[in-house]
This record gives sequence, C-alpha cells and structure tokens, in this order.
Amino acid sequence: MKTKNGTIGVTTQNIFPVIKKFLYSDHEIFLRELVSNAVDATQKLKALAANGEFKDELGDLKVRISMNPVEQTITISDRGIGMTSEEVDKYINQIAFSSAGEFLEKYKDQVDNIIGHFGLGFYSSFMVAKKVEIITKSWKDGSEAVKWSCEGDPQYTMEKADKEDRGTDIILYLDSEFQEYANEFKIKELLNKYCKFLPVEIAFGKKKEWKDGKEVELEEDNVINDVNPLWCQKPAELKDEDYLDFYNKLYPGSDEPLFWIHLNVDYPFNLTGILYFPKLKDKVDMTRNRIQLYCNQVFVTDNVENIVPEFMMLLHGVIDSPDIPLNVSRSYLQSDSNVKKISSHISKKVADKLEEIYKNDRKGFEEKWDNLKLFIEYGMLSDSKFYDRASKFALLKNSDNKYFNFEDYTKVISENQKDKSGKIVYLYANDQVAQFSYIERVKNLGYDVLIFDSPLCAHFVSMLESKFSDAKFVRVDSDIPERLIQKEEITKPELSEELTSELQKLFSAKMPEDVNFTVAFENMGIHNLPVIITQDEFMRRYRDMSAVGGGMNFMGTLPESYSLVVNCEHPVFEKIKEEKDEKLISQVCDIALLANNLLKGEALDKFIKRSVDLLKD
Ligand code: ADP
Repeated sequence: MKTKNGTIGVTTQNIFPVIKKFLYSDHEIFLRELVSNAVDATQKLKALAANGEFKDELGDLKVRISMNPVEQTITISDRGIGMTSEEVDKYINQIAFSSAGEFLEKYKDQVDNIIGHFGLGFYSSFMVAKKVEIITKSWKDGSEAVKWSCEGDPQYTMEKADKEDRGTDIILYLDSEFQEYANEFKIKELLNKYCKFLPVEIAFGKKKEWKDGKEVELEEDNVINDVNPLWCQKPAELKDEDYLDFYNKLYPGSDEPLFWIHLNVDYPFNLTGILYFPKLKDKVDMTRNRIQLYCNQVFVTDNVENIVPEFMMLLHGVIDSPDIPLNVSRSYLQSDSNVKKISSHISKKVADKLEEIYKNDRKGFEEKWDNLKLFIEYGMLSDSKFYDRASKFALLKNSDNKYFNFEDYTKVISENQKDKSGKIVYLYANDQVAQFSYIERVKNLGYDVLIFDSPLCAHFVSMLESKFSDAKFVRVDSDIPERLIQKEEITKPELSEELTSELQKLFSAKMPEDVNFTVAFENMGIHNLPVIITQDEFMRRYRDMSAVGGGMNFMGTLPESYSLVVNCEHPVFEKIKEEKDEKLISQVCDIALLANNLLKGEALDKFIKRSVDLLKD
C-alpha cells in the first residue's frame, strides 16, 4: 500500500482537546477501553471460527499488556480479527462508525459478548497519550499489515507495516503529564480494577516467584483475570463454598455474608449477577464492599446509585448488564425505562428470596433477622412495593425474644391490648437494657412488649402505625403503665390546687436543670414506683426521626422534655404530703432518675451518700 496521510473524519475541527479534557474525567479508563477492544476482536475471531469462516489455528488468544518505563509506552496486543487498511479507515478514521453495530447485526446469534458499549472507546487513548500507533493485520487471507499513527491532532498517517501474525498492537506514547501510567504497579492496579473478570485471558508480564531472597520471573504468563466468573456460571452447578470464595475474591478479608441471590434474566433485558446479604447488625458502611457494576464482564463502576433502589445499596456483589446505558448522565438514568425495569426486577428478586427463606426455614430466618432487619426496614420505608412484599415475612421481635409476623402478632395482642376507643395498642421499647424497668412493669399488667432497636426504628414505627389498621404504637416509657393502653378512666388523686402547686415546686427543685420536667400527680397503685419519668410518645418520636434525618428538623433542636409523675397511691406519698420532707423528695426523685439512666456525677454521689445516711435513721 501507499503511505497515506489524511484527516480524521470528525465534524468538529479538533476533537482531541475535548477528549483530553472533558470527555472522561476518569483518565484511567483508557486501559479498560483498549483492553475491551482487544477482547472484542478476540471474541469476534472465535465466533468466525465457530461458524467455520475462520479455518486456521486460533492458537494462543491471550491479550497481552506490556509497558516500557524508559520509552514511556504501553502496548496492548491481541491476536483477534485485526483490521485491513480499509477497516482502519472506516472504523478508526471515521470516528462515527462503530463496527460493533454492523458486526452484531451480521453475527447476532453467535456473539453475545461484544463490548461495543462505551462510545468513543479507542479515542480515549488520547486522554493520556501524545501519540498512538496501531499496527494491525486482518485475519482475512492475503491481508497486508498496516501501521496507523496519530499525534493527537486530526492528521494521521497510514503505511505498510511489518507484522507476521494476525491481530492488533496498540502502542501508546504517554504524555509527560501521564507518566504515572508507565508503572508496573499502576497498570496492575488498573487491570485488577477493570479487567479482573474479562472473558479472554489477559496477560501482564510473566509470573514471578521468590527464590533465594530474589524475585525471579517464571516461564508462565501472568494472567490477571478469571475468564469465567461465578455470576456467568449456572447456579445449579455451584456450591455454597463457591459463592463464599467468590465473595472473598471480591472483598478480601470481609465477614461471611448471610446468603446470596444469583440473578439471571434474559427477558425483557439482560442481567446476570450475584447479590450478597451482609450481616448488618451494628455497622453499616456504605463505602465498603459496594456493589460492582459490569457490562459484559468489564468493570464499569461501583457507584450504582440511581441504578438499583437506594436500600439495595446495602447489599454487596456484582451486577452485569449490557442494557444499562452507561454513557448518559446519572440523573438521566433514573428515568430510563430499562433502568427502571432492572431496578424493580432486582427489588422483586430480593423480596422473593427473603420470602423463600422465611417459608422454607423459618428458624434460620429468625436467627438471621437481627442482621437483616435494617435492610428490610429500609426497603419497606423507601419502596412501597417492597413493603407490600415484605409485609408477608417481616418479623416483629418481642422482649422475650420471640418472633412473629405482622398478622400473627396482631392476633396475639388484639384482644388484650385494645383501648377504649377500639384501637390496638402496640407497646414497644428501643433498648431492652435501658428500659428494663418499664418493660417489666408493662409485662406485669399482662401486656406484650416489642423491641425496635434499629437506627431507623422511629420512622419504621410511624410507618407501621399508618399501615396497620386501627393501630397505635406507644413506647413503654411514654406514660404511666396504666395509661399506655387506656381502657377506662383512671381516678384522679384528690389534691387541692394549693397543695398541688406547692408539691410541684418542691419536686421541680430536685430535678436536673438542663432537662425540662413537668410534674404531674397520678394514682398508679401501690406496686408502682413512688415517682416515674415518662417521655411523650410524639415529641420523642419526632426528635428521634429528625436525628436520623427526614423532616421535622426543628424538633431536633428542642431540648429533651420529660414528665415526672408522682404516684399518689404509693405509701411514701402520704409522708411526703404531710411532712414535705426534702430528703425524702430528693430520694424518690433520684430513684426515678436512676431508673432512666439520668442520674450522674455529683448528683449520683449525693444520692449514694443520702441512701447510706437513710440506712442509719
Ligand atoms: P467501539 O469499540 O465502541 O466500536 P472504538 O472506538 O473503541 O469503538 O473502536 C472502533 C472500532 O475499531 C471497533 O468497533 C473495531 O471495529 C475497531 N477496533 C478497535 N480496536 C480493535 C482491535 N484491537 N482489533 C480489531 N478491531 C479493533
């Protein structure tokens, strides 16, 4: 062929500065693009061999990456289909032509792994290179090798080249700004990030071994990828161990997951993947072990926001789909109909899996519940379809560590815990240890207490209240036990206004200054404490909700406020009423504070000393 000089067929005068600066903020993806092209070319050759068009030996089909730190070059070589000079002209010079489309059209039944997905693939090499060479020879009989060269402007040269073997070498001459890429460790890192699961073997140098205190190179190629990752395999052929090993490969050194879902969809969109349920008991770290998104085994991102429902981001694993549009803005993704379908499909699969475990292994499900509930609560709160599905298997745990589904629990309490207006009252606590004495008192009245102790519980409780019919959720410390479920009017103590106000002053004076207390007098029976502290259900719930975010923010700034309820039926009240003994008032107030973990420091010390003194009296 004759040497040819030409201008690359782009409409914009000079696209290169655009590529360099604006096209991808992530410069490093150039390697992913070039290796993907090499893999594509190899897959295409395999397809030609499979249908008999290519009859020669396929031989070693590894894609090889090498670099030269002195010359500042990186070379990506494949033994795929290569290109004739016409093809270079068409596919490389006329940027708008992407041959993947044409190829797919022709061979769509045989090739399902063409990565023609990222748009300007090859040209992304100009993000980091001042000059790029392509030396290529087509698989077609009698083809001549071609060398194409371009220095980052629309002018290129094409000439005859010496190349025996079919396939393509892409040589990047790095820009001085991007010399960091001519480094073994950097390339290793990038290959590991983007190419770990590509479907054709990728070799980076030779394997190395430590011998006599020295690192020596072995004969064997250093293949950096797993060509048949677990998500591409048939679930029926896999064992638990395989899934656990794969998890460890994805996130070395992480805790074992609870269980997993193997996704495999081919209609109405393509998607494969494995989602793992991590143990989410006390720690949620959304930055660790994020779901990785692949497109035909090429890593794309681990930021799956707007692609999966928000609560699914608590899960770990991989999703691989060629149907997620990757070169559009993230805000657009949300409205993309494929993405919507994918998102709701995943949500449904996850719910189905949870239901399956619930149905087939109720005991195992209960054992996992504490590690699962945050995920399920989050899902139920943020996705009404998920709520509908999950309300069949979501569990409620009571203070005796018994688990119930929603329906069963309502049956259990509906008789005994109905108030006078006909509402079913669900009593709950957030902290079994801190609210121990409240729970005990409520249980003594024959009621059942639920435990809601996840960080989302304030929102969750409010949601359940709105979803359950005729229901009211009340925390055990939000009123005196007898009034938590109001069945009939409780007799009011008979105290004169004058005495009430005098006693109120005396009691108020004993309470800590930084907390708001109102003092009330009630008949609570001789078995209750002389004084108890309660916190209004709604005030507290709004405060809790604003603490975890989500509306009502002004509530978060309010000081905590409590009620101090004096039990007028307790024997000690008679004495207080008669003698107004300050020591005794301090003592009963401190006992109430102590029961709420509110007695600290100097006040606690005073209480101990006073208690010891009282023993002497
Ligand atoms: P895309 O891969 O999205 O089609 P690219 O700009 O990366 O876009 O590549 C344009 C075309 O150049 C490819 O479709 C392919 O036909 C050809 N090509 C690129 N790299 C190679 C290669 N290593 N071997 C053979 N053909 C290649």
